[in-house]
Amino acid sequence: MTGASHLRPEFVEFIPDRLELGVLYISRRYATASHLCCCGCEREVVTPLNPAKWRITEREGKVSLAPSVGNWSFPCRSHYWISANRVQWATAMAPEIIQAVQARDRRDAELHVPKPQGWVRRFAGQLAEASSVLLSKFKAWWR
Ligand SMILES: [Zn+2]
Repeated sequence: MTGASHLRPEFVEFIPDRLELGVLYISRRYATASHLCCCGCEREVVTPLNPAKWRITEREGKVSLAPSVGNWSFPCRSHYWISANRVQWATAMAPEIIQAVQARDRRDAELHVPKPQGWVRRFAGQLAEASSVLLSKFKAWWR
């Protein structure tokens, strides 16, 4: 199984039934783009193009897709960016994710230090707020 390290943009009216690995099909008319998962698993990735989903930017004939493509529902769980036709794998970011999770775990551990009831309740409230902020940042990054 070979993946794609580059995607060639192809502007089409309709997304074809059979996609070719390494091609990013873009239909402006139907505001959608499709490609085969860059890991080579041959699953079709559909990225609707609208402000709530993805956007395509074109520069000197090269396209970028934002935000990143995270194929969580596929067995491969591929995560990559398409930037100027290049496929950039997200694995390089993994240490940052681990750090974020570890920081949250440390805060959780602090919660378990025995303290008077009222203090714990206050602290737990602050913690819940802090971790939801962290979690939403995390989710925003993770899209
Ligand atoms: Zn895949």
